Amino acid sequence: MQVLSAVDQAWQLLESLTDPEIPVVTLRELGILRDVRSVLAQDGSEQLEVVITPTYSGCPAMGQIEDDVRNLLYEYGLHGRVVTQLAPAWTTDWMTQEAKDKLRAYGIAPPHSGADHDCLTQGNTSIVQFAARSASNPGGHELLAVACPQCGSDNTTETSHFGSTACKALYRCLDCMEPFDYFKPY
Ligand SMILES: [Zn+2]
Repeated sequence: MQVLSAVDQAWQLLESLTDPEIPVVTLRELGILRDVRSVLAQDGSEQLEVVITPTYSGCPAMGQIEDDVRNLLYEYGLHGRVVTQLAPAWTTDWMTQEAKDKLRAYGIAPPHSGADHDCLTQGNTSIVQFAARSASNPGGHELLAVACPQCGSDNTTETSHFGSTACKALYRCLDCMEPFDYFKPY
């Protein structure tokens, strides 16, 4: 029998760790879990290090995620530290297709995939414009339609830029009239 290294063991455990706010998707599927590695501590011993990147820099769930990771490792006798890495910043491209499908099934509209968002940085604040330049309107901005996760209609409207959490916006479908969360893209 092959003995798993602490790093492999940690990957296996963390593989099933879900997001505290969205219990149907794992941190790995969301692209939050970046790396598990072994680093040399100051005393020369090997130390387990788990790297996570928040989907949204102000996301209050990050403290919870750090605790979840630490507690899970501790439960299995693995001692490590959790490093929150802000650069490179999380992007929608890190989210697996599987995660997007699960979000939709859970009633949350998944973020539009990358490339067509503008990230502006003002001071320490990143502002994402939820807009795209289209071929017919190259200089202008038009809002991207967010499809309703219930009925698939594009006939939706943003009712609040901050939904149940800062990472999500609240939308309402104008066809089935259901409100839903939209996972904001980055
Ligand atoms: Zn709908």
